[in-house]
Amino acid sequence: MSALTDLTIAEARDGLRAKRFSARELTDAHLGAIEALNPRLNAYITVTPDQARAQADAADRVLAAGEAGALTGIPVASKDMFCSEGIRTTAGSRILENFVPPYESAVTERMLRDGAVILGKANLDEFAMGSANLTSAYGPVENPWKRHDDDAVLVPGGSSGGSAAAVAAHLALGATGTDTGGSIRQPASYCGIAGIKPTYGRCSRWGIVAYASSLDQAGPFARTVRDNAILLRSMAGHDPRDSTSAMREVPDFEAACQRGVKGLRIGLPREYVADGMSEEIRTLWQNGAAMLRAAGAEVVEVSLPHTKHALAAYYIIAPAEASSNLARYDGVRFGHRSSDNRDLNDLYERSRAEGFGAEVKRRIMVGTYVLSAGYYDAYYLKAQKVRALIARDFAEAFRSVDALLTPTAPSAAFAQGETIDDPVAMYLNDVFTVPINLAGLPAMSIPAGLSATGLPLGLQIIGRAFDEETVFAVSAALEQAAAFTHRPVLRADTLNAGA
Ligand code: GLN
Repeated sequence: MSALTDLTIAEARDGLRAKRFSARELTDAHLGAIEALNPRLNAYITVTPDQARAQADAADRVLAAGEAGALTGIPVASKDMFCSEGIRTTAGSRILENFVPPYESAVTERMLRDGAVILGKANLDEFAMGSANLTSAYGPVENPWKRHDDDAVLVPGGSSGGSAAAVAAHLALGATGTDTGGSIRQPASYCGIAGIKPTYGRCSRWGIVAYASSLDQAGPFARTVRDNAILLRSMAGHDPRDSTSAMREVPDFEAACQRGVKGLRIGLPREYVADGMSEEIRTLWQNGAAMLRAAGAEVVEVSLPHTKHALAAYYIIAPAEASSNLARYDGVRFGHRSSDNRDLNDLYERSRAEGFGAEVKRRIMVGTYVLSAGYYDAYYLKAQKVRALIARDFAEAFRSVDALLTPTAPSAAFAQGETIDDPVAMYLNDVFTVPINLAGLPAMSIPAGLSATGLPLGLQIIGRAFDEETVFAVSAALEQAAAFTHRPVLRADTLNAGA
């Protein structure tokens, strides 16, 4: 049993095709691991064992017929932002506690068509707003990693913290996530796994609960770069139901992982040396640059002059779009409806007051404020102009380099109890990731080293729009050079080792 939850997706795919084990055995091993560890980690909000076993049995029939698809029999978790037909989809919110979608999201529909087995719905910050998975109405997620020197419960990052913790703890071989300002890359960094936010438009947003529509993108998590390539190829592709989904061929990302970095130019943006950047993050970054140089790349310094305004622009644009998107939760058509109300306005107010948590209410208030008549020009319009300048900075940099290398986050995972009550301090977690969403570019985080207390630290590889292939090539080269083999304390294969 331990061996089955320890596989990569590529190994599982080969093992299934060679009939070394069945899809049912692989799924049962993961369901057993979830049963043992999820009560502690809280990585899944909803586990769907009956559906998973039925999908695994169907996969075994397809395998027996020799007709395996890209993900046949591969057990994954899906962030509870992706609508699942007939299965409750909460977005981490009380307001959607009893919402059972009548349709499947475009991304998971593609994965299911390719034969994936979905084990359940992963926990997240409410409506994907957060960086620590502390705003979920279904309780916090525990990061499976521990510091060397204490037993504190660490956060997994956010908002896709459940997806990242599930993959890190071997409760799934891979997972879906969404990334609006860093929600795939930052939890990947905190949990010591890899994750990629593809170019805006690469994956369809159809059937994903909306947070900030001009920034939201779906992407995968997995324990290796190659596994991310396998998952993304299945998830991506044009979809007429999402007008922002791009009409682009989906390349063979897995093949791109083999390309190497010889002859590539990699830029280090000098503005990413943030105020008070810790020595260990700086060292991690320098080591990453040295590894790419040793692998044959040319590493140069570049400038992204408007970087310092990105966080402020993001925290105007994202709440503005969120306040508009969340207007649909009014207690009338779906979602929580207050039972105690006098008239229609009272129904709206009470349903929303009871259904939304504090962080979501804060974002709605900020969003409506920056969009209001007297402040629109001063905040929202200004932020849109800053966004254009940030995108132009990247376009300029990519005239002379093929990819950029930066740290993913300013620190390692912090403890639940240490959480900063100041929301602005929490927003600083996203300082290295939000510019990429504002510019719509692809970026990946891979584990590249350990902090002084033994926690994983990620490096971010940023590419040109629709050039995920170079992102995969650079990430795979860095992964090989970094040879990050450390693993978290809490994981399925150690628990099951005696079984
Ligand atoms: N932490 C950021 C926020 O709270 C990013 C979240 C995300 O990417 N979904 O908005």
